Amino acid sequence: QAHQAMQHAKQLGGNNAQFFTHELRAYSLDRLQLENQLRKALEDDQLVVFYQPKLHLASDRIRSAEALVRWQHPQRGLIMPGEFISIAEESGMIVRLGDSVLRQACAQASQWYQQGPQAVAVSVNLSVQQLRQQGFADDVARILRGCKLPARLLELELTESMLLEHSPTVSSNIEALQELGVTLSVDDFGTGYSSLAYLKRFPISTLKIDRAFVAELDEEHCDDAIIRAIIAMAHSLSLNVVAEGVEHERQLEFLKANGCDEVQGYLISRPIPADEFTALLSSSSDMPNLRKRR
Ligand code: C2E
Ligand code: MG
Ligand code: MG
Ligand code: MG
Repeated sequence: QAHQAMQHAKQLGGNNAQFFTHELRAYSLDRLQLENQLRKALEDDQLVVFYQPKLHLASDRIRSAEALVRWQHPQRGLIMPGEFISIAEESGMIVRLGDSVLRQACAQASQWYQQGPQAVAVSVNLSVQQLRQQGFADDVARILRGCKLPARLLELELTESMLLEHSPTVSSNIEALQELGVTLSVDDFGTGYSSLAYLKRFPISTLKIDRAFVAELDEEHCDDAIIRAIIAMAHSLSLNVVAEGVEHERQLEFLKANGCDEVQGYLISRPIPADEFTALLSSSSDMPNLRKRR
């Protein structure tokens, strides 16, 4: 937003210093206020976790879900991560925020595992700052033990840039997580870097194709070569492939025909609160074809 304000001021020409500072000040105040409120939100448990199902195409079943944080703000209502994750990253609060999400997600996965209606693997997005903490993998091990969750039901989503960080702490955490039996996936695959060397260096098991590529499938003369290439490459490396941002039947049919393993997107379901997810699981287990029903 600050950047936008700056661009806007530039477009207006040189005499708009006043406009510029006004916009920027309003922006900074707003951000400062959110930062302070976020600190309080962490103490008051205002951060809630929503779950978005991933549909496993071969079985037509929900086997896993992505945990996505939301902020239940006392005055502003539900705030999406796009509005506060960067604040949390810049202020360092992301480490505590991430820990809170991880605990909530593991507790929920454990509840589905122990009380049904069925086991669901839950994937949690990580910040590189969490991986830079010495002992992060030990924290994860403690959380899993604490809620009696088998490690294979926890998946951690990393981004390409995290895997290219040459830090011994990051590398040893990633290796320790794999030894625990936690699954690791690469989020937003295809948007970051041209080097794929990290796929051999790290114990990755899943690639999540970024939704920008999936969105392309909607266009009239779409170029679907990239998606087909990612799926082929992933399979030749024995990796699973998840496609994000599936909104239309046409995209789903294409992904199915090309052997994509799982799909996630508004066509299946938006991210929903845990209790709604439980209800979705109960109803989809007596109705095998989830999609046709919705
Ligand atoms: P992401 O990990 O790539 O998550 C997928 C995002 O795409 C989610 O946005 C989800 O709601 C959205 N999405 C899912 N299906 C569709 C679809 O069909 N169409 C469209 N247009 N969007 C779809 P959300 O929940 O707003 O999260 C945004 C980002 O915030 C996430 O992107 C992730 O990078 C970050 N984030 C969310 N929760 C956490 C967290 O607990 N920790 C960290 N470090 N980052 C998080
Ligand atoms: Mg993700
Ligand atoms: Mg993603
Ligand atoms: Mg994304």
